[in-house]
Amino acid sequence: MKTTKIEWTDKTWNPITGCSKVSSGCLNCYAEIMSKRLTAMGVDKYKHGFKLTLHDSCLNEPLRWKRPATIFVCSMSDLFHQDVPNEFIDKIMDVIESTPHHRYQILTKRAENMFEYFQTRAVPENAWIGVTVDVQSSKLRIDYLRKIPATIHFLSCEPLLENLGILNLENIDWVIVGGESGMKARLMKEEWVLSIKKQVEEQGSSFFFKQWGTWGSDGIKRNKKANGKLINGKIHQEMPI
Ligand code: SF4
Repeated sequence: MKTTKIEWTDKTWNPITGCSKVSSGCLNCYAEIMSKRLTAMGVDKYKHGFKLTLHDSCLNEPLRWKRPATIFVCSMSDLFHQDVPNEFIDKIMDVIESTPHHRYQILTKRAENMFEYFQTRAVPENAWIGVTVDVQSSKLRIDYLRKIPATIHFLSCEPLLENLGILNLENIDWVIVGGESGMKARLMKEEWVLSIKKQVEEQGSSFFFKQWGTWGSDGIKRNKKANGKLINGKIHQEMPI
């Protein structure tokens, strides 16, 4: 059963909360905004606000989820943050391996750390791994990603902040694109989206367009719902398998 508003997954699993900003995509971090809100509401798990916190008590949650689900790991943090000990990541990988009925999605902005970690053990077969690519300079992350053996490699181009130019999608199975939302959202131009879509189609990957966000395809700022998720009148939400 779907328990998250994130279109490309069913559930989130957060044995780590909190993070620190690492690139331009982090400026209006959703996890930070949500963490502060949950702290203000008195939710115990978020008593440290957005400070990186490990939650041993949440590690076994997926063992209790009997129905197969697609699970986004660490939506409120970054699993490969430099302050997360390898031993804790090991525990997360052990849970992933012991629940083969689930499919896990691991997304990071710290591609180099992920690459180094997976020199120490293999990516579980039921885990998809991905990196965020929001500006041209972050394309370096794709080279780390494609070198790690995994069932599925994916890119999250969200929030897309500039024209990414030419993309080498060798060994990349899935590309998610989305615009930023919220009052302070930055503009995503239609031509940047179309350029990625064309390259994804030409190179045989799957394309998933999540949303325009606060800025519409016409470059006008309005309600996110009103801007919707259509490209030239159609939904494009392919999954890689
Ligand atoms: S890496 Fe992700 S969770 Fe961490 S600050 Fe940046 S956007 Fe937020």
